[in-house]
Amino acid sequence: MDRFYNLTFALSFAAVCVCMSDFLFVRVQNTMGKTQNKIFMILLCIVSVNGICNTLTGYYAPFMETNDIAVQVTDRARYFYFVFHTALAPMFFFYISHVCGVVFKSNSNKKKYFYYTVFGLTELLAITNPFTKWVYYRDADNKFTRNWGESIIYLAAALFLFLALKYLYTAWSALNRKRKVGMIMFTTITVAGIVIQLINPNLKVELFAEAIGLTGVMMIIENEDDRIDTETGLYNRQAFIMDLEGYLINKTKLHAICLRIETPEIISRKSGIANRELAEKKVADYLETIHKKYNIYKLGRRTFILTLFGRSDDEAYDLASRIALRFDKPWKLADTMVLLSSSLLIAKIPEQLESLNDALYMFESFKPGKKEKKILSGADLDNILRGSAIEKSISNGLADGKFEVYYQPTYTIDGRRLHGAEALVRLHDDEMGMLFPDEFIPVAENIGLIDAIDDFVLMDVCKTIKEEKLDEIVDCINVNLSVMQLMKPDFVEHVNGLVEMTGVDKKFINFEVTESISSENYEIMNTAINNLKKEGFQFSLDDYGTGYSNMKALALMNLDCIKIDKSILWEAEKSKLGFIILENNIRMIHQMHLSILVEGVETEAQIKLLEPMGVNYLQGYFFSKPVPKDKFLKIVQESGTRSKA
Ligand code: C2E
Ligand code: CA
Ligand code: CA
Repeated sequence: MDRFYNLTFALSFAAVCVCMSDFLFVRVQNTMGKTQNKIFMILLCIVSVNGICNTLTGYYAPFMETNDIAVQVTDRARYFYFVFHTALAPMFFFYISHVCGVVFKSNSNKKKYFYYTVFGLTELLAITNPFTKWVYYRDADNKFTRNWGESIIYLAAALFLFLALKYLYTAWSALNRKRKVGMIMFTTITVAGIVIQLINPNLKVELFAEAIGLTGVMMIIENEDDRIDTETGLYNRQAFIMDLEGYLINKTKLHAICLRIETPEIISRKSGIANRELAEKKVADYLETIHKKYNIYKLGRRTFILTLFGRSDDEAYDLASRIALRFDKPWKLADTMVLLSSSLLIAKIPEQLESLNDALYMFESFKPGKKEKKILSGADLDNILRGSAIEKSISNGLADGKFEVYYQPTYTIDGRRLHGAEALVRLHDDEMGMLFPDEFIPVAENIGLIDAIDDFVLMDVCKTIKEEKLDEIVDCINVNLSVMQLMKPDFVEHVNGLVEMTGVDKKFINFEVTESISSENYEIMNTAINNLKKEGFQFSLDDYGTGYSNMKALALMNLDCIKIDKSILWEAEKSKLGFIILENNIRMIHQMHLSILVEGVETEAQIKLLEPMGVNYLQGYFFSKPVPKDKFLKIVQESGTRSKA
């Protein structure tokens, strides 16, 4: 009996005990039941069976020569040991590739079949050994002898271990700290076990090392409590970010379907916050019935992501359509039936979303599609991403001086003399080129940067007036104001401060505002306008004719000028009715003693049409497009004298 006999026996037995308690632990844990979890159970199973076999061989080995039962038991134990041990390396490899999300999430079927074939053949060698004796046999003296088949099994095991380490290496940066620690722990303990056993073949420590390593993996990787959303039982936002980072680094192809419940008012108003949670849970439960649970995430309030691997665009669309259809039917929340509306988006990763930032922006900010087109996909995503690019461009542009003020001159209709200009902002983006305000102003309003832009424009205008002595030549420069700005409580002081700092006479600044929707807003707006007018600023109503044209409100507003929108002018040229509308509006505005500027004048014919109506000022491409400052200054120079002599 060798000196390690007792120790080997004890270690094998301990390995079995450790695996058994791991089994119990996993059973009571909150796992998703995905392939990775199943492979982990198989690994535990293999180590347990091997431990039992080693315990038995260890126990009966000393009686082999005298006892026939000992021979029988040792034979069987050795057989099962081989059959199971052969599966250990491949299973370890399959496990690693699932943890790293490498092979089995992509659609490389060829690779998959190769691994399965190698695994299958080695298992076949082990299973058929009692008949073939290719792996091992007992010689005439009952001595255990190894055959060539064992070398093949070891070779295959080495291949699988090598591949596992390779994938671990490739995916290393995609693994979070926890997974890294788990993998390092398992690998070092197992390798240490194998090395000790190699140095000292009689000390069978490998299995025990593996059991301890697996325990670590179980506690660190298989325990997903911090990845799970407690309310819905789905993966949480953190899990999504982690997994997506992995997929992006590994270049794993997938479709992501984003679902958002678009009914926040109903959910919160009817019976408080609890109802939102209830609705989320209902939807989560429904999603679990149509998709694998471990591929569903709750990204945030009312937002879910489903990930699909190796599916076609059509299959992804079908799944999204199915979800959309479900939302045509009511949901039972507590005792009431509630209709929830949804919006859906399908993104191809990495083709359409190349970075985590893009993906989060997309999923968190996409607007619901139109009624007849509930599911956004393909080119819709490009528009959303452009929005994201514009956001970045605005934030960087403010710091990097990428905004520029263009000036579009305005003229008097009598004698067509230079009256002033409208300041129109532009944004130069290194990649997208020049961006126009129609596109970026709404984005700037959304992200709260409109104040900074409008301040920049106002300062630029004041500086230009002062430096170029424009106050000696023009009547006013028009500056656009966002209504949101005007409603701010300290706006009047703020603007006063800015303009006073530059020393420009306030009457040279003519603010353009658009009509507001609600009457309560009118009041706040009017107070601000009145206060600014007292300071000497002028005010114009922009885009007249496109909004609500609430006559009473118009009469109540303290304005200097009405800017009639280009669409009204163009319509007057096209139809009799359009002409009547323009003519009567102009007459009415005159009766209110306000001056009139018509925008969008592109032809001489349009001026001829306007002349008899008593319009005061004109603006449009007929005279000039909006131009950079130096070009505008040239126009000013050429114009010579003041219009208002
Ligand atoms: P808006 O105030 O109605 O400005 C007039 C727009 O019509 C300008 O477009 C101008 O280029 C265009 N336009 C002028 N004459 C003609 C013409 O004869 N034919 C045609 N087809 N178009 C003409 P732009 O510069 O793209 O500005 C778009 C809108 O962006 C502006 O509409 C204004 O509402 C907003 N905006 C521009 N600059 C600022 C700013 O500094 N602050 C704020 N808050 N909004 C701004
Ligand atoms: Ca304007
Ligand atoms: Ca306008």
